[in-house]
Amino acid sequence: MSIDTIEPITLTPVSTDTLQKFIFDNAAVRGELVEISDTWREIQNRHNYPPAVRTVLGEMVAAAALLSANLKFNGAIIMQIHGDGPVRLMVVECDANLKMRATAKLAEDAVIDDGATLVDLLNQNGRGRFVITLDPQDKMPGQQPYQGIVPLDGENMATVIENYMLRSEQMDTRLWLGANDGISRGLLLQKLPRHSGKDDQVEQSSEEDDLETWNRAVMLASTLKQEELLSTDINTLMQRLFWEETIRVFDPAHPAFHCSCTREKVGNMLKMLGEAEVEDALADLGHLGINCDFCGKHYDFDKVDCAQLFAVEAPVATLLPPSESKH
Ligand SMILES: [Zn+2]
Repeated sequence: MSIDTIEPITLTPVSTDTLQKFIFDNAAVRGELVEISDTWREIQNRHNYPPAVRTVLGEMVAAAALLSANLKFNGAIIMQIHGDGPVRLMVVECDANLKMRATAKLAEDAVIDDGATLVDLLNQNGRGRFVITLDPQDKMPGQQPYQGIVPLDGENMATVIENYMLRSEQMDTRLWLGANDGISRGLLLQKLPRHSGKDDQVEQSSEEDDLETWNRAVMLASTLKQEELLSTDINTLMQRLFWEETIRVFDPAHPAFHCSCTREKVGNMLKMLGEAEVEDALADLGHLGINCDFCGKHYDFDKVDCAQLFAVEAPVATLLPPSESKH
């Protein structure tokens, strides 16, 4: 084609953030690859995380997307690590449509080496906790979200999730995760339980087939070096690792940044602090300015706003005109 035959094209911005599910033919083994770039940059946008924190949080972002993609309900997965080191808290939320947000809270005096590991950051004294919350969107009245709290068991994010999945879900799961300032990328392999016969993704296969395929897939994926994971797009990774396998890929999904903060939720948080605490803060500051930890959005509450929060709500009946008295 010569240059003057090229038609003008319109470039529309397309998110490159992609999650690709696949399944091995004739074996109850599934996989997912994810790469998150725009969303990951957005998450880091208003923060200046030290490189070591960025790596661990980025790996947690990839892990949350990988786990969320298999949720059987319409709702969100919330992964939290409560740390006992220089990082106090890491939170990643991801819903079934892969809308994500994440944040990390550092101790005020935190000094963090570039080479700090997950254990250095969050589990120095072995008191780190990993909390997974599954929060259905349309809860039944009185229904509480499911929450699992376990010790932070693992040297890195991948082993923490693997140990959690094995203990809590009895699922053989392996993860390979990597993150830098531009990309968060991950691979998940999972051996499906035999009793999931209703899962139409899985064709008839013998237990031996499953085990053989599982072992081979894990072996192939284990050849993946960290630099390779960080520098190679997921389509190339899939071909490079599994070119000899028969796998089926599903329609890709696209993670995106979304923060669910609202003025009402911030108000509820102030209510939970209690009237006395809020009044003390108002006396000191005149008004309360609160920034969302996830997206940086600013919410301002002055004295009148706060008074409204704590105004005793009049019982509905007293707002209605008095009913006719019976004679
Ligand atoms: Zn927000």
